[in-house]
Amino acid sequence: MTGTVNVCIAMGSNMGDRLKHLQMASEQLGDLPDTTLTACSQWLETDPVGPIEQGAFLNGAAVIQTKLSAGDLLAKLNAIEHEHGRQDQATRVKWGPRPLDLDIIFYGDQIIDQPGLIVPHPLMHERSFVLQPLSEIASDWVHPKLGLTVKQLLANVKS
Ligand code: ADP
Ligand code: MG
Repeated sequence: MTGTVNVCIAMGSNMGDRLKHLQMASEQLGDLPDTTLTACSQWLETDPVGPIEQGAFLNGAAVIQTKLSAGDLLAKLNAIEHEHGRQDQATRVKWGPRPLDLDIIFYGDQIIDQPGLIVPHPLMHERSFVLQPLSEIASDWVHPKLGLTVKQLLANVKS
């Protein structure tokens, strides 16, 4: 356990009842041990990005306050994804369709680079489907590596 840390989480779904997956997942975030859900964005429909042809996503973002370590939090997020029917990493298509995706975008202002966990999420600043919902609830959050706010990153990705 660590002290209390504010954490940004990106959420996405493009399989099944997308809204239900996301709404339930946001409740599950708040139900994690030593964790409070402090903000949740609206849901935003986005086109899939990448090489795989697949249905549109519903995306959102949440901010939680937690005492879980980043590694413990990632394990909990993976367990929630699994409960929503997500296939194991070994059998699923990389960047393919998923009932639920939960990514750690920021963990306080920490920079984490370990096998299986990179924070800030390495692609977040290129993805408007992450930045747009995040800007609703954490627009002034400063990216600890790039030194830019979420608002600024979003403006850059749109230009
Ligand atoms: P993506 O979200 O990029 O489409 P996946 O959801 O399939 O990819 O994630 C694959 C792996 O990425 C996870 O099992 C996890 O170990 C790793 N990973 C690395 N950094 C992070 C992070 N910041 N948040 C979530 N997963 C991460
Ligand atoms: Mg993921």
